[in-house]
Amino acid sequence: MRYQWNPWHGCKKCSPGCKNCYIYYLDKLRDKDASKITKSKTNFYMPLKKDRKGEYKIPSGIELATCFTSDFFLKEADEWREEAWKIIKERCDITFLIPTKRIERFEKCIPKDWKEGYENVIIALTCENQEKADERLPLFLNCKIKHRYIFASPLLENIDFSNYLKTGKIERISVGGESYENARLCDFAWVKNIKQTCDTYHVKFDFHQTGSNFKKDGKIYRIKHHKEYEQANKARIILENTIDKN
Ligand code: SF4
Repeated sequence: MRYQWNPWHGCKKCSPGCKNCYIYYLDKLRDKDASKITKSKTNFYMPLKKDRKGEYKIPSGIELATCFTSDFFLKEADEWREEAWKIIKERCDITFLIPTKRIERFEKCIPKDWKEGYENVIIALTCENQEKADERLPLFLNCKIKHRYIFASPLLENIDFSNYLKTGKIERISVGGESYENARLCDFAWVKNIKQTCDTYHVKFDFHQTGSNFKKDGKIYRIKHHKEYEQANKARIILENTIDKN
């Protein structure tokens, strides 16, 4: 089971990768407007909630997916973030995985006692194409962060991450295709290239979802959303067996 904490919800589109944002898609199904950014009334303090025995409901040692229905560094969330950082600091026994496309706002948004970064925070920079990777990664590498991941998702083209992985500052790349209707193509050949670059620089690699429109060996597959994770897992196993043996 993957735990998720969304202290606020909704986002503003800011990048080619946002075109078919899944939050917009899912909110529209519920007649909600994802461009309205709201602080969660029920879940803002979720990491601090305790059960009847006085123990935290979110157990120690887990990785908590944080702000997956918004962007943690969104300007519209400036007034809520300081309190969110206090919660993150208080739960130093769990790891907060925070994805963002807004790395240019990072320095303005960190708490006063951040220093070189909180040990229990992973920042995952999202890059969907080469242009955005080249724009965001130099900033990302200069930020004071203890743990850096890259989310190459939704992957829209082949991306060469060599220059960034060779710094030794990136711990993991997780790759994924785009989901739901109008999903743009994700080509397995691009995924394979990224895996090879990860192997060259000894960076952990993951292929978390194929996307709904997946090309492999010249053939295009339409994949139902609930099958994307399973199919990506199968493809990742193929990759590990083929690339590692070469
Ligand atoms: S930054 Fe992320 S959450 Fe925000 S609109 Fe873009 S894809 Fe959606």
